[in-house]
Amino acid sequence: MVERANGRRAVANDEEPAGGENRRTLVPKAQYDKKTIALVYDFDGTLSPKPMQEYAFLPKIDADPAAFWAESNRVAKDHAADPLITYMHLLYKKAKERGVRIDRADLVAQGRHVELYPGVEAWFAAIGEYVKAHAQSHGVVLRHYLISSGLTEIIEGTSIYPRFHNVFASEYWFEAYDLPYPKRVITDTGKTQYLFRINKGVEDLGESINQHMPEGARPIPFSNMIYFGDGDTDVPSMAVTRKNGGYAVAVYPPGKAKSKCVELFKAGRCDFFAPADYREGSDLFKRTCLLLDRILADIRVQEEMWRLGRGLDRAK
Ligand SMILES: [Mg+2]
Repeated sequence: MVERANGRRAVANDEEPAGGENRRTLVPKAQYDKKTIALVYDFDGTLSPKPMQEYAFLPKIDADPAAFWAESNRVAKDHAADPLITYMHLLYKKAKERGVRIDRADLVAQGRHVELYPGVEAWFAAIGEYVKAHAQSHGVVLRHYLISSGLTEIIEGTSIYPRFHNVFASEYWFEAYDLPYPKRVITDTGKTQYLFRINKGVEDLGESINQHMPEGARPIPFSNMIYFGDGDTDVPSMAVTRKNGGYAVAVYPPGKAKSKCVELFKAGRCDFFAPADYREGSDLFKRTCLLLDRILADIRVQEEMWRLGRGLDRAK
């Protein structure tokens, strides 16, 4: 992921300032610069109906998904092990037992089998268009981020991978040991570290996130963020986002039980919930646009306050 943060450019319409003009030529250097909006997504259950390992990895090693996760959770519990490290190890332990070799390229190829919820593929461009049409301020930039306990390699193989400014997910070393070895494991609470990385603009994972940074120096305030998740594993991220002035949206499988979302909503974990239908005109689309309206208005208010303050400084 370091290489993404260091060198990667996002897709064409991801980062173009609203209004379509070239930011550098039109906006003087001294300008209000908290105009980047970040939409941050969980993956499994949020953008995709099932855990990503169930689409190709588990079938390839002939493992029943329910039995695999039950075994993984049981082993983790029995040995007081981290559940995520345990599942990452168990996947390859079972593959080895079956004599199935799955390297990094194979994992990336598995990403093509991952199913996405309706409208996900078109969502990024459609939301981008909405922001462009409603920004009413030059230089507003929209970014999409993914923070997942799933596997970076599989996500890389999905059609939506290029839509993300950055992807933070669990990942393997493939050369260090006989079996692939967890290189980075992103737990439920660990996800919040990446929210702060987005907030502080410290996306290079080689850099420490712990250094103090005053609020005013942080490029993407939490109030410019919306976090999308589907369940208990998203509670820490939703709580951190909302407590710092941002927003959270919970989703549930269309046509299925919404009880988890209702629970999150009643507990004040999310601002809205909706079926995971990302098509234009859906409840999720409309509610996200409502939050974006608020964020865009807030950016304009903050910008005007900043201008007023700057004028006072100059008059001194
Ligand atoms: Mg999830």
